[in-house]
Amino acid sequence: MTLTEKVESRPRPLVAGNWKMNGLKSALGEALAVDKALAAEVSPIGAEVMICPPATLIMVMAELVGEGSVTVGAQDCHCAVSGANTGDISAEMLADAGASAVIVGHSERRADHRETDRLVREKARAAHRAGMQAIVCVGETIGQRQADLTLEVVARQIAGSLPDDATADNTIVAYEPVWAIGTGLTPLVADVADVHAMIRQRLCERFGEAGIAMRVLYGGSVKAANAAELMAVENVDGALVGGASLKAADFLGIIEVYRTQTVP
Ligand code: PEP
Repeated sequence: MTLTEKVESRPRPLVAGNWKMNGLKSALGEALAVDKALAAEVSPIGAEVMICPPATLIMVMAELVGEGSVTVGAQDCHCAVSGANTGDISAEMLADAGASAVIVGHSERRADHRETDRLVREKARAAHRAGMQAIVCVGETIGQRQADLTLEVVARQIAGSLPDDATADNTIVAYEPVWAIGTGLTPLVADVADVHAMIRQRLCERFGEAGIAMRVLYGGSVKAANAAELMAVENVDGALVGGASLKAADFLGIIEVYRTQTVP
């Protein structure tokens, strides 16, 4: 199956950039360059494109890209609507600033802030309450992979981190092997296929039709050189991209696979 045929039979893929704790106002030009390049495309890109900058840049980035080709997301939210939570930001505040989605349960938050599946689920519910999509991250550590626990760990995270109100419109899953994030390492295509097939099965068992349509992204060292191969894997509906989303040229190189539409 070509990537074109695959894309035609699936919901619109999403390529989302996670800038993490990178980017001052001077970096906004990169987002604008992506937006302008996409708007100038003669043959349209068959994917939705999103950038998730640090919270400090959400409002101004959303104003810059407007109703253009790039949507703006956030990287985390608090579960509560408002209250005595110094330093936290609610989903409602992110939506008010112009974010249409929020990443929850990124492995860096699970590790550095001890976020549990239960908390991640509450954050996803908060995103939905605020009218945003939740991009729910799951993925195994290198130790879990070496112990052959990948499918078990990811299945447990899927069960625990997704709220019951998840639909194909309000929820996106991102499979990100922790050991592949920022390392330049990626799983074998066959391993990505196995994990995504298991995720799809679990989503269908729990959410029925919505589970078929729910997008499941792959994330972890995606770059222009490996994007076509990874995006062509069955049940991969786009990418969550860290380092390679910071520069417009790198990010556009990944997005490009949805225009060239060929399977390697
Ligand atoms: C990420 O942190 O979500 C990620 C995928 O990072 P990178 O692309 O840099 O591996």
